[in-house]
Amino acid sequence: MKADPAVQRTLLTLADLDKELNQLAHRRRTLPEIAQLVEAETAVRTAKDKLVEVETNAGDLDRDIRRIERDVEGVRARTERDHTMLAGSGVGAKQAVDLQHELETLQRRQTVLEDEQLEIMEQREALGADVEHSRVALAAAEQAVTDITQRRDTAFADIDAAEAGRGRDRAAAVEGIPAELVAAYEKRRAKGGAGAALLLARRCQACRLELDRVAIAALKAAPADEVVYCEECGTILVRTAESGL
Ligand SMILES: [Zn+2]
Repeated sequence: MKADPAVQRTLLTLADLDKELNQLAHRRRTLPEIAQLVEAETAVRTAKDKLVEVETNAGDLDRDIRRIERDVEGVRARTERDHTMLAGSGVGAKQAVDLQHELETLQRRQTVLEDEQLEIMEQREALGADVEHSRVALAAAEQAVTDITQRRDTAFADIDAAEAGRGRDRAAAVEGIPAELVAAYEKRRAKGGAGAALLLARRCQACRLELDRVAIAALKAAPADEVVYCEECGTILVRTAESGL
C-alpha cells in the first residue's frame, strides 16, 4: 500500500488520539466513585433495615405501653367503683369483706402494672434514642450517596467533554487519511494493538522491540511512500528522521 509520508505521519496523531480515547474509556470504567457508590448504596440499605428494626421494636413497645395504660385504667376504675360501693349504704358485711379483699388484690395488681409500665417506658426511651441515632445514620448514608453521585457525574461530564474533543480531533485526522490506510490501521487496532507507531531509533514504539538488521535493511530499502509494518507486532510503522535508518 502506498501513502504519502506526511499522510503516514498523521497516523501517529490518530494513534495518540485513540490512546487518549482508550484512557478516557478506562477512566470511565474504573472511576473510584463507581465502587464507592455501590458501597454507599449498601450502607443505605443496611441503615434502612436497622431503622425499620428499631422502629418496629419501638412500635411494639408503644403497643405494650398502651395495653398497660388500659389495664391500669381498668384497675383504677374498678378500685373507684369498689370504694364508691363501700362508702354507699346497703353493703352487707360479707360483701364489704369481699370488696376489701378485692381492693387489696387491685392494689397489688396496680403496683405490678406500674412497675412494668416504668420498665417498659425506660426501654422505650432507650429505643427512642436508637431510632433517632438510626435516622441520623440513614440521613448520613443517603447524603454520602448524593455526594458520591455528584462527584461521579462531574467526572463523567469531564470525560464526556474530553471524549467529544478528542472525537472531533480524530474525525478531522481521519478525514486527511485515505480510507484504505484507515482500514489497515483499524484492522490492526481491532486486534488490540496501537494500529500505527513510530519507528524510533530502530525500535517499534508499539511493541518496544528493536528490529533486527535484516528488517531494518528492508525498511530502509522500502520507498518512503510504501506503508510498512512491524514484523514483530504487525503495527504500521511510521518512519521519520528519528527512525535510525
Ligand atoms: Zn512492533
